[in-house]
Amino acid sequence: MTSSFHPPRRTLMGPGPSDVNPRILEAMSRPTIGHLDPLFVGMMDEMKGLLQYAFQTKNELTIPVSAPGSAGMETCFVNLVEPGDTVIICQNGVFGGRMKENVERIGATAVMVQDAWGTAVDANKLEEALKANPQAKVVAFVHAETSTGASSDVKTLVDLAHQHDCLAIVDAVTSLAGTELRVDDWAIDAIYSGTQKCLSCTPGLSPVSFSERAIAAIKGRKSSVQSWFLDLNLVMGYWGAGSKRAYHHTAPINALYALHESLVILKQEGLENAWARHRLHHNALKAGLEALGLPFVVPQADRLPQLNAVTIPEGVDDAAVRGALLDDYNLEIGAGLGPMAGKVWRIGLMGYAANKSNVLLCLGALDDVLGRMQAPVQHGVAIAAAHAVYDRT
Ligand SMILES: *Cc1c(COP(=O)(O)O)cnc(C)c1O
Repeated sequence: MTSSFHPPRRTLMGPGPSDVNPRILEAMSRPTIGHLDPLFVGMMDEMKGLLQYAFQTKNELTIPVSAPGSAGMETCFVNLVEPGDTVIICQNGVFGGRMKENVERIGATAVMVQDAWGTAVDANKLEEALKANPQAKVVAFVHAETSTGASSDVKTLVDLAHQHDCLAIVDAVTSLAGTELRVDDWAIDAIYSGTQKCLSCTPGLSPVSFSERAIAAIKGRKSSVQSWFLDLNLVMGYWGAGSKRAYHHTAPINALYALHESLVILKQEGLENAWARHRLHHNALKAGLEALGLPFVVPQADRLPQLNAVTIPEGVDDAAVRGALLDDYNLEIGAGLGPMAGKVWRIGLMGYAANKSNVLLCLGALDDVLGRMQAPVQHGVAIAAAHAVYDRT
């Protein structure tokens, strides 16, 4: 017999998706109405304002792309880069590699500036690359590298790009709502994010925002945008201010209810309170993981609170530990990516998942599972170390 799919209730502490707030799942189950229904159009307008708040921007073109974070990335590249252009990409993990793919598929040249995985992007190397490539038009980098847990200094990197007449594209998929991000103050030209990380919404949408400078560049293109679906000239007619809401594609109606609810939740909490909450639970988790004997991959100053990458102890079977956490505790943590596969765990504290009971659950579960596997760690001290952080605050 064919039957319905009933997933178990997991605790999601990996690199995304993160735990979805039940209010968001409830919002998603509300009645579907037409995407040109005046009430839906009103909700879309409200959502633009909420997204502007989340991004800290007044940019008019601030909308959710109807597809996951990767489509937000592609939206930025296909609209701002033309065949023959040069783009400087600072890579310090997996996602910079995907930017390179995007640039090359457009028929443009990617100049790669490499930094070691687990470190922040080095502004000095970017400056050298800008001097060596005066023809460059765009600089791109990842704010919060989810593959390693490293945070980069957006403002400094964007300032450098502007000093050399480049536009700056910033990947904020994991940073939005989890860590300080100010699109206007930092003068970011094009930015994309995702819904399933620190917004704690269901996956499948990509909030993006474009500055006036970026829009001028798009309007001044010599060639047409290679992607019909992601061409912002067309999307603006659907989402843009005073647009006639001409049919472009059918918006993912219920997914947008979910994003709207998640942004309402963020506004109710307050953006800076959300950043502080991520920081607090990170500090408690960090104390516990270090007490257990799991060292962090990223140097203290560059660590993201929402993505904690720790080194797996010698001789411990990565997949067996993650399997036991899932089977015994319904707890998901992330594996390492690329050169870090099998060497690190990535523990997410994103959005709704960044809370005290998750921190204690994760530390207790790791202590138990690693203990049963006779791993070389310190037992029975991790939870107390986390409590000590909470007691101080
Ligand atoms: C998750 C992630 C993406 C891709 O987002 P999807 O929604 O999986 O397409 C891009 N960049 C970074 C930094 C991410 O963490």
